[in-house]
Amino acid sequence: MSNEKFERPSHVVLTSHSNQVFKESLPVNWGATNPKDRGPIIATISEKENRNAIGTHSGSYTVYRALSIAKGDYAREHRPELENTFSPVVIKPQESWFDPEKIVSIDPWGGHIQELYGDYIKEGYNIKPTIAVTQARLHIPEIFEAIDKGRLEIDGDIVAEDKSIKVTKIAFEPVWYLPGIAKRLGIEEGELRKILFNETGGMFPELVTRPDLKVLLPPIGSTTAYVFGDVEKLSDSEAELSCRVHDECNGSDVFGSDICTCRPYLTYGIEHAAKTAQKGGVGLIVYYRKEGRALGEVTKFLVYNARKRQEGGDTASNYFKRTECVAGVEDARFQEFMPDILQYFGIKKIHNLHSMSNMKYDAIAKSGIEVVNRISIPDELIPADAQVEMEAKKAAGYFTAGEVKDKDGLDKVLGRNLEE
Ligand SMILES: [Zn+2]
Repeated sequence: MSNEKFERPSHVVLTSHSNQVFKESLPVNWGATNPKDRGPIIATISEKENRNAIGTHSGSYTVYRALSIAKGDYAREHRPELENTFSPVVIKPQESWFDPEKIVSIDPWGGHIQELYGDYIKEGYNIKPTIAVTQARLHIPEIFEAIDKGRLEIDGDIVAEDKSIKVTKIAFEPVWYLPGIAKRLGIEEGELRKILFNETGGMFPELVTRPDLKVLLPPIGSTTAYVFGDVEKLSDSEAELSCRVHDECNGSDVFGSDICTCRPYLTYGIEHAAKTAQKGGVGLIVYYRKEGRALGEVTKFLVYNARKRQEGGDTASNYFKRTECVAGVEDARFQEFMPDILQYFGIKKIHNLHSMSNMKYDAIAKSGIEVVNRISIPDELIPADAQVEMEAKKAAGYFTAGEVKDKDGLDKVLGRNLEE
């Protein structure tokens, strides 16, 4: 790392304007068939004249980078050294990469920067990857249990002797093509840009001053795909695919909090994904950083308390109402963009979709992907306190193969007291 000191500029340039289009910035033709014509996304802060996107790299971590620069730990001019960082597996371009509407929230070429745009990098353009691929092994207690109970076998490949599972992990930074994002949400692009500008407290003035810049790297969380088995099989409709599209729930996913079914869904999805890979198919878990229905943990914890303190206790019949009272909306997850990751892999058919959510199912179907079976977790994996959520969701029309309770039945599904 360079310890080079930088000069603090005496003034801040708040924004550029559309009459200041720089000749050194490369055009972006979203969805172009040839990646060279599509052009690299350049969101560097170091050479402002090269920028062809709004926002900056690293999603929500961009603020930490700023702090690190402020402290003097991180050289503002730092350029990533990309040698040996390339993917251990081949990720082939799919037809969806050439369709300006199939993928609008990630840059499909963002994992191929060095091969495609190496010449530009040599010329001095600061182009950064927005997708990275690596491999790992997962050690998960629920998987050990699945093996001990005979539900999953050790095969020495996908599942090793030490009960760990082999995976390929792919991380995606958000890269939004604003006309496509607006279209998915059914609003005018200008309106979307204005609302994004206003609701972030004016964070990116170029949203309103530079309508010619069509790409935004928003300061939000990233997405990670975990692939079990051969990545190339994901685009092969003949190969069985078991898939879970999972929205982050830190309390359950990591800490095992039992008020919801998030971790059981996640680990059961992993179990089935590994099993499908063992049979010659492929498994996929996509993990979206959209904590608490994209409302965040503060809102979520307030809702938990309101649910447990309401008259009559935490019943399934009032489950959705409480979220809406506190947050103003039942769910802010916008599954509209979720299928982009599936499209990235060229998925056309999901044989087993692990989800109860109709919002997820509808978004997947709308993007042109066929879903054969919808899978909900076995009852024995649902924590007692999470029955409230489970029954409320079923009654609200979430997918279930089992029975749906009426109002009386829902009143009787009661969660623990707050103090218990
Ligand atoms: Zn949860």
